[in-house]
Amino acid sequence: VTAEEAAPLFGGIDLGATKILSLVVSRTGSLLAEDIRPSLGAEGRDAVIGRMVASLRECLATVGVDGRQLAAIGVSAPGPVDDAAGVTNPPNLPGWHDVPLASLIGSQLNARCTLENDANAAAFAEHRWGAGRGSRHMLFLTVSSGVGGGIIIDGAIYRGVSGAAGEMGHVTIHENGRRCPCGRRGCLEAYSSGLAIAKQGYRIGRRASGALHARRAAAEPLTAKAIYELATAGDETARRLIADAGRHLGTGLASLINIFDPELIVLGGSLTKMGDLYLGPAQATVQRECSAQARRDVRIVIGELGDRAPALGVATLALETATQTSTL
Ligand SMILES: [Zn+2]
Repeated sequence: VTAEEAAPLFGGIDLGATKILSLVVSRTGSLLAEDIRPSLGAEGRDAVIGRMVASLRECLATVGVDGRQLAAIGVSAPGPVDDAAGVTNPPNLPGWHDVPLASLIGSQLNARCTLENDANAAAFAEHRWGAGRGSRHMLFLTVSSGVGGGIIIDGAIYRGVSGAAGEMGHVTIHENGRRCPCGRRGCLEAYSSGLAIAKQGYRIGRRASGALHARRAAAEPLTAKAIYELATAGDETARRLIADAGRHLGTGLASLINIFDPELIVLGGSLTKMGDLYLGPAQATVQRECSAQARRDVRIVIGELGDRAPALGVATLALETATQTSTL
């Protein structure tokens, strides 16, 4: 496919806390180019936006076209987004309150730009191109350092009244429970995320014995990944920490299944790599805590698109919006 045949093109840019991932797809959704570079959020907002634009331009250069073939672009960012205000308050990106990201990026690239929350975008990509293909009602949860989510109903993203729907990491699973990074207590994220596993590992490591204590005493980082490595090496305490986090994930999933009765739950994020140690207790809890009818119908699967999902999701949103409004 030559660049001319592939035009018009659609771009997607995902702004993450640590990296920017951009890509360009054809009108049939084929991936034509991709660029990954660090966000360097400490350099400030304008520098980051400049890097986002440069990243997409690099993709266009790889395809061998200039910006004129770009029909529309989508941008995804962490945290809640708002059509009017733009990015409202993304975690880990200081100074990003109420940034009209879509219009800033769109004007620099001279293309119509839509903005979407990153987990919603990832949910949409998994629905169109990944593990959720062909499903009608689907939930997507990403479990890594935090827990995010997206809701697909009748094949479309469900955004709610204010655009904040799908924040499934912050459903309460324990009244007056552990403190969550969001400032409230007892959220699913405070029990089932990578950060939660690390925090519990650090706490247990205070006791004067065991592998967790040895790591803590040696001032080695007690990340979820490190705890997983201890667990796979056979450390019982580390195994229990991961199983507990999985069990709590199952409690959250069971409530969501009881509410939405989806046909499919797609799980993404780094913690899915922990396999049965984490997901086994989650599945067992879902079996125990779901209503019989919803449990019978739901499948829980791992996402297929990985880190590419948010950018691919917003590029696909841009593509479908343009197609529906027949601007091509
Ligand atoms: Zn929370």
